[in-house]
Amino acid sequence: KRHPIIAGNWKMNKNVREAQDYAGELLARVGEVTDVDVVVCAPFTALNALKDDLEESVIHIGAQDLFWGSAGAFTGEISAEMLVDIACTYVIVGHSERREILHETDEEIAKKVKAALKAGLTPILCVGENLAHREEGRALAMVRGQVEKDLMDLPPAELKRVVIAYEPLWAIGTGKTASSQDAQDMCSAIRSTLAGIAGAVADEVNILYGGSVKADNIAELMTQPDIDGALVGGASLDAEGFAQLIENAR
Ligand code: 13P
Repeated sequence: KRHPIIAGNWKMNKNVREAQDYAGELLARVGEVTDVDVVVCAPFTALNALKDDLEESVIHIGAQDLFWGSAGAFTGEISAEMLVDIACTYVIVGHSERREILHETDEEIAKKVKAALKAGLTPILCVGENLAHREEGRALAMVRGQVEKDLMDLPPAELKRVVIAYEPLWAIGTGKTASSQDAQDMCSAIRSTLAGIAGAVADEVNILYGGSVKADNIAELMTQPDIDGALVGGASLDAEGFAQLIENAR
C-alpha cells in the first residue's frame, strides 16, 4: 500500500528567521507522525536553516526547483547534488507557476526529473490543466500529455520513485478546490497513463492532489482511492494550520 504524503509548498515566502520559527513549531506538533510523510518545500535561501532543525527528524525537506546539470557554468542555477548536500530529499519539478511565468517546457522538466532521480531525490512532478482546457474538454488530454512527455524514457524502476501532483491551475490559490470526485477521476487517469508507460509499477506511484487544499477539505480528498496525499500552498504557510491539516489527513 502506498504511504500518504502531505507536502507544503511555501512558494516565494519566508526568510531564514521565519523558516526557523516554523520548523520548531511544526516539529513540536507533528514530530512524531510517521503514518504520513510530511514534506516542507522551502525557498533555496531557507533550506540550510531547515537542515539544522529538521535533518534528524521525521519531517522531510524539499526544494521547489533544480537545474539538470551537476555543476559548471550555469549562473544562478542549483543542482540536485547541491540539494542533497543540504539534506533535501524531495524537490518540486514543473510547478505550473514555473511553466506559466518562467516558460518551462516539458523537455526541460523531463531533464530535471531525471537529474533529481539520479541524485537520489524524490521529484514531485506537477501536472495540471488550466480553465480553458477544462471547459473545452481537453483537461485529460493535456494532463496525459504532460505525464508522458515529462517522464519520457524512464525505466519502471525509476518511474516508481516519482511522486506526481495533480494541480488544476484554476484551483491554485483561488479557494476553488476540484471536487473530490473530479480530483479522483484525474488521479485515476494519471495512474492509467503511468500503467501504459510502465506497467504494474503504476500502482506504487504516489499521486497527490493540489489546489486550495485546506484543513477542512483534506479528509474527504484522502478517502479517494487514487489520491495519496496533497501538495499544499497557502494552507502550509502557518505551522499550526499545516499541522492541523496533517492531523486531518491521517
Ligand atoms: P494553494 O494551496 O495555495 O492553492 O496552492 C497550491 C499549489 O500550487 C501547491 O503547489
